[in-house]
Amino acid sequence: MKAIVFNAHGGPEVLKLSDASEPVIRQNEILVRVKACALNHLDLWVRRGIPGVPIPLPHIPGSDVSGEIAQIGADVTTVRVGQKVVLAPGVTCGKCAACVSGQDNRCRQFTNLGYMIDGGYAEFVRAPEVNCLLYPENLSFEEAASIPLVFQTAWHMLVARAELQPCEDVLILGAGSGVGSAAIQIARFFGARVIAIASSDEKLEKAKELGADHLINHKTQKIREEVRRITNKRGVDVVFEHVGTATWDESLASLAAGGRLVTCGATTGYDAKVDLRFLFSRQLSLLGSYMGAKSELHTVMKLVAAGKLKPVVDRIFPLAQAAAAHAYLESSSQFGKVVLKV
Ligand SMILES: [Zn+2]
Repeated sequence: MKAIVFNAHGGPEVLKLSDASEPVIRQNEILVRVKACALNHLDLWVRRGIPGVPIPLPHIPGSDVSGEIAQIGADVTTVRVGQKVVLAPGVTCGKCAACVSGQDNRCRQFTNLGYMIDGGYAEFVRAPEVNCLLYPENLSFEEAASIPLVFQTAWHMLVARAELQPCEDVLILGAGSGVGSAAIQIARFFGARVIAIASSDEKLEKAKELGADHLINHKTQKIREEVRRITNKRGVDVVFEHVGTATWDESLASLAAGGRLVTCGATTGYDAKVDLRFLFSRQLSLLGSYMGAKSELHTVMKLVAAGKLKPVVDRIFPLAQAAAAHAYLESSSQFGKVVLKV
């Protein structure tokens, strides 16, 4: 089969269209003929190399897959060959206490398609049967592939970790990113008031179309001051963080008493400072979040099929132009998802 394979870590240029052997499925797995694979920031980290994470080389990246089932293992009972499918990105043991309690994103063996195992930048990918999600018939393959990773991440952050309540104020950083555009929709779905932050007025206009109530351009406005103005000096109940060092101080300073900051990433750096006096006297909660549980994705897919949550596709590249797609994602000029068409 044709696949985007890299043999060494580095810049986008290490992504080469190559011949690779077709995956061989196990009894509880399916083989998917990939139609589309969405990019995530994780793909950039995997390509560059992560200290302490020995990604097997040569490697095929790609966590967000949609396609058709080409083959099923002997033990597979819930899906059939020829069926359209979207895959949950997280692959876990399925047997440990975390997995059987529905908290599979806490499984010690957790990985994603395209992370420690081969992913979807290819004509075929193999995945466990339990990763099959109901295909939302109202979506194209490119739109369907844009849903899983960012929506499960944003859902887990806002619903499971921050326990968002109706009428609360939510500050969403990086509103133009895949996870940010998902978070705006989920927060609105739960009846929260959304303050969206992005780096350009053009991105903010699109955030408004998705339902953001207030907009902050962090290039021209100071986040904490705008939050104070919008919330009548109170601050927000929830800060949705994934930017890291560049925005951390502003994010913390924007919290109301009893506020929760939930973070799933650190695209601008890992170093952050916390004034402990501020943490305890304001009774703040700092919450880490990583990916999401498969059960949450089943809920997300139902809401997508019902038109309550929508994929946001920025640009589609052919598989052969994966390197150009990575360079584009690294430029941060997108609003929503960058997708490879296979
Ligand atoms: Zn497990």
